[in-house]
Amino acid sequence: MNKKNLILTAVIGLSIPAMAQKPAIQRDATIEAKIEKTLAKMTLDEKIGQMLELNLDVMGNMKVENAKVDREKVRSVMQQYGAPKAELEKLLKMTDEQIIEKLGNYPVDIYQGATKRVWKLNETMLDTLISKWKVGSILNAPGTRAPRVDQWLQWIGLIQEKSMKYLGIPDIYGLDHNHGVTYVQGGTLFPQPINMGATFNTELVKRGAEITAYESRAANCPWVYNPVVDLSRDPRWPRVYESFGEDAIVNSKMVVAQIKGYQGDDPNHIDRFHVGTSTKHYFAYGAPWTGKDRTPAYLAPQTIREKYFEPFKQAALAGTLTMMVNSASVNGVPLHASYEYLTKWLKEDLQWDGFLVTDWADINNLYSREKIAKDKKDAIRIAINAGIDMSMDPYSVEFCVLLKELVQEGKVSMSRIDDAVRRILRAKYRLGLFEEPNTGGKGYEKFGCDEFAKASLMAAEESEVLLKNEGNILPLAKGKKILLTGPNANQMRCLHGGWSYTWQGSKAEELAEKYNTIYEALCQKYGKENIILEQGVTYNEDGAYYDENEPQIQKAVDAAAKADIIIAAIGENSYTETPGNLTDLWLSENQRNLVKELAKTGKPVILVLNEGRPRLIADIEPLAKAVVNILIPGNYGGDALANLLAGDANFSAKMPYTYPREINSLNTYDYKVSEEVGTMSGAYNYDAKVSLQWPFGYGMSYTTYEYSNLKVNKSQFTADDVLTITVDVKNTGARAGKEAVLLYSSDLVASIVPDNKRLRDFTKIALQPGETKTVTFELPAKNLAFVGADGRWTLEEGDFQLKVGNQVVGTACTETKVWDEPNI
Ligand code: BGC
Repeated sequence: MNKKNLILTAVIGLSIPAMAQKPAIQRDATIEAKIEKTLAKMTLDEKIGQMLELNLDVMGNMKVENAKVDREKVRSVMQQYGAPKAELEKLLKMTDEQIIEKLGNYPVDIYQGATKRVWKLNETMLDTLISKWKVGSILNAPGTRAPRVDQWLQWIGLIQEKSMKYLGIPDIYGLDHNHGVTYVQGGTLFPQPINMGATFNTELVKRGAEITAYESRAANCPWVYNPVVDLSRDPRWPRVYESFGEDAIVNSKMVVAQIKGYQGDDPNHIDRFHVGTSTKHYFAYGAPWTGKDRTPAYLAPQTIREKYFEPFKQAALAGTLTMMVNSASVNGVPLHASYEYLTKWLKEDLQWDGFLVTDWADINNLYSREKIAKDKKDAIRIAINAGIDMSMDPYSVEFCVLLKELVQEGKVSMSRIDDAVRRILRAKYRLGLFEEPNTGGKGYEKFGCDEFAKASLMAAEESEVLLKNEGNILPLAKGKKILLTGPNANQMRCLHGGWSYTWQGSKAEELAEKYNTIYEALCQKYGKENIILEQGVTYNEDGAYYDENEPQIQKAVDAAAKADIIIAAIGENSYTETPGNLTDLWLSENQRNLVKELAKTGKPVILVLNEGRPRLIADIEPLAKAVVNILIPGNYGGDALANLLAGDANFSAKMPYTYPREINSLNTYDYKVSEEVGTMSGAYNYDAKVSLQWPFGYGMSYTTYEYSNLKVNKSQFTADDVLTITVDVKNTGARAGKEAVLLYSSDLVASIVPDNKRLRDFTKIALQPGETKTVTFELPAKNLAFVGADGRWTLEEGDFQLKVGNQVVGTACTETKVWDEPNI
């Protein structure tokens, strides 16, 4: 070993604790040496500055024209930020102008009507924040509204110029590019992640992420707050649409594909066409007890380890550069304060060396909302010691002052600070930002091109789920007169959903002008003369997302007289996060009344559901001949629907979540066997049947598939075996199609009540009419283990069933094994 290598090994040896397990990302020694060199030159102020992330809005001024605010939104948004009641009441008494002045820098969509915001970067302020406060990261779009590419190039360009000048360290700029480039005008938006989950197609997911990475870098942004793998297991939660659905394996396979797409193949060397990811929100954010955003979850330790943690573990192993932490608490412990979950589970057990960023102002929330800290300083101490590396403290540099005091008082150790800063520098080196802080937008000619648009259209077609098709009413032949009705019939906002051009996805119609609404797409497909548009119910665009205008149902009923068929596009308007909370899961009464009245005309009704979560429709579903759940399919969702309805494309999506039928029967597909007990007689006569509208994994096609020959290569196995499972799938219909093939297992008897079934793997295949393909799954037997009552992974002797389609095959484990390791 030469001297240089010796020194290097020594340096790295110092910074890495003894490794029980292989590091999640195999480190690059050259990068590690550079980190040490940079770190050695940094002052405490510089180190702490790296750990702060500010909102771009504080570096500029927003001028507002035609000031008019929506007070309900002000209330809901300020509650989300944890504003004390008295402060909120005071604010609501102010004039519109005063409120805007007070909240001018908040990324809130509180404006009404023709209110416009124009943002200007304040270079002097930027200079101060970087030279004096040494801020290492900035996020967001001004006023959360998508700027143009040239504006991004200028702003981030300037930020990088100043960061290199004053700190010699580049900034890491982050944006919520959740389903495409949310915050870049003219970029490509994909279907929302919930749709991508419904495709069961990992290739489409990877391609989407590649395109988003390319377009983010075209706008000079190297870091996206995505993927989202919060298992959406509570249909009431307003963020259901942001992840791939309720299942751990679907989210796990999708997150790995997405990270590859975003970051490329080598997390140590991410090129200028790829971006760093922030997998979020670590973890169990999608299980709020109240159904409301950012409220506590109460979960069994087994469920946490087996399900909620799993996709994050896979993201760490796939090399996600960073993770963002869940704003809420689990079993009374706010994630931002959990040494166990942040440091032990991620950084020690998995040897994951990326960095952890808080969610929005969440260190503040530890005292203002969660009440586990007495003040901001106390909250910073708790969070940093728990393992937080970067604080997204959007509007204040107080973090720098207080953290410095904590270090000086010995309440946060210097080694914790160094560890956090190493992790942040590592991400910046891995992203190549030291060498090329600015892409300058050069070499990105494909930004917003047709090829990317086609990828989005294809994803949309594979993501819209056919749930019902009585008498094969679909495909709809041309030449019929169609009444198109419902509030979602002619608006881009509900097709692209939240996180689209603006935070709430609202007030951005002009930025989505060139895309087709359902109405426009149907006119193109069937001829304008054949489509009668009479919406009957419309959203109030100046109100909350759930506000509707006075219904005009009779007008729609009258129009039905001229039509052969009725398509009702119903569902939800766009919303994001806490403003999307609801109090009643039923679809709005106006919309259900619209369908009921139209059904009375006797004309066949097709329901098109366009919604971010499953709104209950049990009373109107029986009135429809066909139902298509398009979820939130993005900018090409209308075109995709027209292609599918006309039969120019075939349906192949399956439900990524369980669609409930009744409000007291909310469930997931992997419920415990004992949850279904049927009707019992006697004093406690009750019905505990699992009652669903449509199950997870359900979806129809214009063709039919036959499953046969399900085989497993071992009728008996032990924990070290890998089971090879094969099944033949035949297209028995007359059309080409794609089929998502889902492998489930059931543990028939276990020492804790077993789940009735669990998805273990899936794939998607294309089949011509008459064609048969054999699908092979390789399933490590340890994947059949569960977490026992003692918290340890356990695979028990006994019988298992493997299920694919209508096929079932048995196999048996011959030897019980219990692991001591936290991850197997
Ligand atoms: C959301 C995150 C998002 C962050 C930054 C938060 O309010 O919960 O998902 O990444 O804001 O915009």
